[in-house]
Amino acid sequence: MGSLRDCTWILGLAGFRVVMMAEADGRLTIRIERRGIRRYACSWCGRRTSRVRSRRDRTWDDLPWAAHHVTLVYPQRRIVCRHCGIRTERVEFADAKARVTRRLRQQIGVDCQSMPTSHAAVRHGVSWGKARRAEKAFLVEWDRTRPKRRPRHLGVDEIQRGKGQRFWTVLSDLVRGEVIGLQQDRTEDSLRTLLRERLDVRQHAAVEAVCTDMHRPYLNVVAEVLTKAETIFDKFHVLQHASAALDEVRRQEFFRAGPVMREHGRGKRWLLLRRWKTVRGSKRAELQALFAANRRLFKAYVLRELLDRLWMYKTRTGVLNFLMGWFKALRWQRLPEMERLGDFLLKHINGIAAYCDHPVRFGVVESINTTIKAVLRRARGMRDERMLLLKLKWATAHPIRSARDLMRFLTIQPLYSNR
Ligand SMILES: [Zn+2]
Repeated sequence: MGSLRDCTWILGLAGFRVVMMAEADGRLTIRIERRGIRRYACSWCGRRTSRVRSRRDRTWDDLPWAAHHVTLVYPQRRIVCRHCGIRTERVEFADAKARVTRRLRQQIGVDCQSMPTSHAAVRHGVSWGKARRAEKAFLVEWDRTRPKRRPRHLGVDEIQRGKGQRFWTVLSDLVRGEVIGLQQDRTEDSLRTLLRERLDVRQHAAVEAVCTDMHRPYLNVVAEVLTKAETIFDKFHVLQHASAALDEVRRQEFFRAGPVMREHGRGKRWLLLRRWKTVRGSKRAELQALFAANRRLFKAYVLRELLDRLWMYKTRTGVLNFLMGWFKALRWQRLPEMERLGDFLLKHINGIAAYCDHPVRFGVVESINTTIKAVLRRARGMRDERMLLLKLKWATAHPIRSARDLMRFLTIQPLYSNR
């Protein structure tokens, strides 16, 4: 083994030197001591003092040295601070109460975002619990140092977690495509808590539009808390209603019209619910054969396809005129299901037409939902809600997009990226 000087150089902890090294079971124990100054910083206020009361050996796991996992030992002082009384001394390379050094925490934290915690724990030679705590500290630190944005467009959505009716309300920033908050249940209270706790008054004032489904409690709370914001109905949800109406027409026309027709319409549900532009080749022919057999179904299909245009106009008058034209096309068709859909659209026209003034990004709503589902699937048994929210934030913000971002997370000096 080289001299302690060399070891100090390799360890590379500014202000510390190696005084002793021992090896057992592939684990290297390195005893370190401060170099130079004999005054210690108070962990509470940062003021320095030389009044040491006692010292106690503490250990931290650190980055491995080639084939060896490393444990650092340092006699941490208890000092008498003139302002705070008896405190522990501040140690620069680790957080208060942490069992791993800051640089190891960063490595574990980054690894945990792309592999299970158990794998990261094995890779870095620490226990699962240590890895999990390091990951949480890493995420908390990242979230804390990010700037507070004032999003113009918010998204409110519900997700279902696990079996049964366990719903969660998700609040997201649609401009940047990030999750802001997560709350159990989908009641007025859950959204109110989210808006009040996750956003401050200045952020409330900046919100111009909220994209949501037609869930009544959400609408009430948005009107109550964000008085100036406009509600916009999620295109996906509106079109879902349209598809449900189309499906009802299919049932009416084929399944309740005797066995011959029933055989004809069997197994066509998914084909019918797909959009025309995504249907290709032989499937298109199949669909056309279906329409040849039943004109009313064809008419309903065309009416649903037309609804896409609701979001193409630049003015509210345009939207209204289009809807009127749509009603005209519906007349005398004897399609009660589509008429009911028309009433529904008319009732919610404000929230649909508001899109002209506030073009929120519906694609972002979808992609956030997909990401959330992926994270939830991986974190099936996660009990810690705060951790789950942090993971969701990380996954939707995905702050590591290049090798440079990754370097910024792994080297501690210029603290964290702002992304
Ligand atoms: Zn102090």
